[in-house]
Amino acid sequence: MIQLYIPLNFLGVIYREIKQSLADMERLFSLLDQNREVADTPDARPLVAQGAQVKFAHVDFSYETKRQILFDVDFTIPAGTTTAVVGHSGSGKSTLSRLLFRFYDVNAGAITIDGQDLRGVTQDSLRHAIGIVPQDTVLFNDTIEYNIGYGKPGATHDEIVAAARAASIHEFIESLPDGYASMVGERGLKLSGGEKQRVAIARTLLKNPAILIFDEATSALDSKSEQAIQAQLKEIAKNRTTMVIAHRLSTIADAQQILVMDHGRIVERGTHQALLAKGGMYEQMWERQQARGDEETAAEALA
Ligand code: ADP
Ligand code: MG
Repeated sequence: MIQLYIPLNFLGVIYREIKQSLADMERLFSLLDQNREVADTPDARPLVAQGAQVKFAHVDFSYETKRQILFDVDFTIPAGTTTAVVGHSGSGKSTLSRLLFRFYDVNAGAITIDGQDLRGVTQDSLRHAIGIVPQDTVLFNDTIEYNIGYGKPGATHDEIVAAARAASIHEFIESLPDGYASMVGERGLKLSGGEKQRVAIARTLLKNPAILIFDEATSALDSKSEQAIQAQLKEIAKNRTTMVIAHRLSTIADAQQILVMDHGRIVERGTHQALLAKGGMYEQMWERQQARGDEETAAEALA
């Protein structure tokens, strides 16, 4: 029998290190994995996004052949406007954002930006044009400066500070013992949900993309932080083509267009007022959220 003489506490340290780097690698692989689904064609061109109209034309999609997820999804987000997507959990909302980012290709129909089919443009240029503020922002085990600067390779310190100011997180960062050099992420300082979202907003401001996607960006926050961050998201969405996957209906009432998804189909569309007047699914969701003091999420109201 082989005997091990390695001190146990040493193994403990190694184990923690390995576990951590596995967590990092997992993240990396999941990104690579998603990118593997699609490839640049030999004649792919850089996307030219000006103003950026987004169009889903009769899109069908399935992750696996057996189960279709999207059915004939057809809508346009006019350049510089906001479209909100609502519907219960599993109805296909996040799938729309993954397709727009081209993590996957559609099975039928097409997605275009300013008339250019996503399948004909380089992935680099596409991802450059789109900024995502996700539900749960992942911070890298690095400095807060790096975590914000990641939005724009080669950004100067002044640009990073300007973005942090605009995202109302500059003062918080200055109050840290190491300021912008403070380590964050799993191995550093743990930031609150609201602070992480502000880092994500700063990152996105720095990136200055033509198209924005907020995927239930504030659902992890308490309602006070949510209100503050919602106001900021509205500010950065101004005059940018924006897709908001919404959680509380009150946050999207002023969107130019609201799409209601159900089981992979758009079942209603229109402005908040028009949808209320229609007296359908949206109106029911709205009534329920109002009745519950807006504490419940759209998903819960529909459940
Ligand atoms: P929503 O954002 O509205 O909650 P999603 O777009 O995330 O819904 O998911 C729509 C459907 O697609 C769900 O039934 C979900 O289980 C399925 N789905 C999501 N991601 C995958 C995946 N990577 N592989 C297979 N099915 C998936
Ligand atoms: Mg989702």
